[in-house]
Amino acid sequence: MKKIFYSLFSLTIMLTTIACSQKEESNSILKESKAPFSAPEFNNFKVEDYKEAFDRGFAEKRAEVKEILENKEAPTFENTIDALEMSGKTLDKVSAIFFNLNESENTPQMTEIEEYVVPKMTDLNGYIFMNDTLFNRIRAIYDKKESLPLNEEQMIVLENYYQGFVRGGALLNEEEKATLLDIDTKLGLAQVKFNSNLLADNKAFKLVITDKADLAGLPQSVIDAAASEDGNSWVFTLDKPSCIPFLQYADNRSLREKVYKAYYGRGDNNNANDNKAVIKEILQLRQQKAKLLGFDSFAHYVLDEKMAKTPEAALKLLHSIWEPAVKRAAEERAELQKIADREGAGIKIEGWDWFYYTEKLRKEKYALNDETITPYFKLENVLQGAFDCATKLYGVTFVKRDDIPVYHPEVATYEVLDSEGKHLSIFYTDFFPRDTKRQGAWMTNFVNQRNICGENVRPMVVNVCNFTSPQGDIPALLNIDETRTLFHEFGHALHGMLTQAHYPSVSGTNVKHDFVELFSQINEKWSVHPEVMPTFAKHYITGEAIPAELIEKMQQSSHFNSGFETTELVAAALLDMKMHLIDDYSNFDCNEYEKQLRSELGFIDEIEYRYRSTNFAHVFGGGYAVGYYAYLWAEVLDCDAFELFLEKGVFDSETAAGFKNLIEMGGSKDPMREYRKFRGADPNPAALLRARGLI
Ligand SMILES: [Zn+2]
Repeated sequence: MKKIFYSLFSLTIMLTTIACSQKEESNSILKESKAPFSAPEFNNFKVEDYKEAFDRGFAEKRAEVKEILENKEAPTFENTIDALEMSGKTLDKVSAIFFNLNESENTPQMTEIEEYVVPKMTDLNGYIFMNDTLFNRIRAIYDKKESLPLNEEQMIVLENYYQGFVRGGALLNEEEKATLLDIDTKLGLAQVKFNSNLLADNKAFKLVITDKADLAGLPQSVIDAAASEDGNSWVFTLDKPSCIPFLQYADNRSLREKVYKAYYGRGDNNNANDNKAVIKEILQLRQQKAKLLGFDSFAHYVLDEKMAKTPEAALKLLHSIWEPAVKRAAEERAELQKIADREGAGIKIEGWDWFYYTEKLRKEKYALNDETITPYFKLENVLQGAFDCATKLYGVTFVKRDDIPVYHPEVATYEVLDSEGKHLSIFYTDFFPRDTKRQGAWMTNFVNQRNICGENVRPMVVNVCNFTSPQGDIPALLNIDETRTLFHEFGHALHGMLTQAHYPSVSGTNVKHDFVELFSQINEKWSVHPEVMPTFAKHYITGEAIPAELIEKMQQSSHFNSGFETTELVAAALLDMKMHLIDDYSNFDCNEYEKQLRSELGFIDEIEYRYRSTNFAHVFGGGYAVGYYAYLWAEVLDCDAFELFLEKGVFDSETAAGFKNLIEMGGSKDPMREYRKFRGADPNPAALLRARGLI
């Protein structure tokens, strides 16, 4: 292994040397960094250099793959898999920088570059993953894998490559390959159609209010946001920030009904934007694809590469949550009915009343408003709280750096050190909204970790958020959702920064889709724990720790409405899963199917599936089909794992060391086996029910 690597490695050096002797690197993106830790020199990057950097990255990667293909020696793990994992460094470098900044410092120029790059990326992927010669080399290694001296991580990397090709159709004959290509093309078009229908139906609806009386009940901020320029009318749309407050607060019941039916009915209006036929086509195509690749159903095909492994395992979990959730939802419905009766509304609670009376109940039970809470959550204190938890749990420390280049003055950098003071990572934070930044919150890498073939590269990780900005003398004060978000994204960041994997394809957050949120969701748990919260939640003026009764109130209110929330979520996950397990779609009608599933489940009428089929974009609009269960799967893991901390102590060192192993391994080991090792048992769904206050 070392020998082959050595020749590859020296080849890279040689190429670099030649380049150096010819002329100094002039591309600002590719120029060797002189910054500490060779961190990206954002301050020197020129936007006009991206295309050239990408083109060189593509060419280099292609040449490296070609060299693997044309290698006259018999395929070995070293000359094929190692070589693939070591290839494409220039492309990795420019991609990590460009695609990150494209989200957080976007300009029209960046969008134009993206349009230039994406088709080339698709081409390159086709060249690699549709390549029979490459597959044959991988297959030759795979077929004799038991006789090779590979460790578990290498075995997983090999398996991932092999399965990646097989799932893409590499084992099919030419005719079947053509069929698969045809199916994939049709699927791609059908998904685009689904999305454009949904978008069009979404846009087609507008509730225009001209009579002020119809605004009764709505908070002033909601009214202001809906006001037209002349101030004589108010427009509500089906975008969530517009329609949800309307459902929550508008006193006019018939208008609530109108908005509710329009929202859940998107894509189901028997007009030009109707998605029912599109859904049937997508389900049929997916089934054909799964059968062609040797699976019983599309659900089996998807789950085969997940931690859950089978639809049966995922269904078992969903059903175990279902009963207690519906039971609680029925109790919630009775409570809402009581308020309506007390007010003399003379109605039976319907779906369009649920949000409205829930808000009344929330106000009555937990009069919590942001103004009481946010002064305790100054951003700097919350971040320090997240750092301190990581120090207590995993021994890592954080040193603020002012000498590492950043791409915006609001970005801050930290060096992350392990318990012995050794360098682990660079951590960037970018917390406030800008016109050039996408909505939401996320974690990504600027530099990916690798520790193979004599190269040990530590990762550089960023958290990007859109928190409330400082206002004049008032610092950035977070609400409780934002506080949880900070800890959530920081959990992903720790996963990326602490990684001790070797191969980049299984490093850090490169784990199975239904495993990755364990690390972010569990990290949230410390932020709201009554022992931990007062250590960082200190009033920004007085410095006084958050009062215990406020924490208590927040904890109680966190279970509020959880029957409804869990029911709509589990129902959507079941719908997603079960629709992809059907044997015969010839008479399939998604509305009929939703009804049938409703009665099978004993789903209560006043709650809708969180998404109905015709507007379930996760499932029919893109790559998350048979993936909705994963939110709950990961939640079981994080609740179950955190219960061990609750039992042993939230900073118990032995428990933390066990969990650190899960963080550090990335995708290099079997997640379920390692989880059992940490927990001493299978994950228990009852932990989720307890955390949601359902039992
Ligand atoms: Zn996440």
